[in-house]
Amino acid sequence: MRITCNVCSSKSIIQSTKDAMPGYAKFYCICTNPMCSHSFVASWSYQKTLNPSLQQTNDLLIDMVQRMEPTQKQKLIKQLSLI
Ligand SMILES: [Zn+2]
Repeated sequence: MRITCNVCSSKSIIQSTKDAMPGYAKFYCICTNPMCSHSFVASWSYQKTLNPSLQQTNDLLIDMVQRMEPTQKQKLIKQLSLI
């Protein structure tokens, strides 16, 4: 991840990171420009899902099957056995 100083636009270095919670982190940064040396806190946060995790997809599928009526489940089992 590239972080630039918001004062002089030079490259900055992440000195430490704190993960406050999943999907959010704080970066304690310092500017590499010796004439600036600005130190600051930047943050990163999760925005949105483009494709769901395979784990989420499996959980969703299991949940859908568990909610099916018994006759629907039997029909699905028969269809899967043909594969
Ligand atoms: Zn700077």
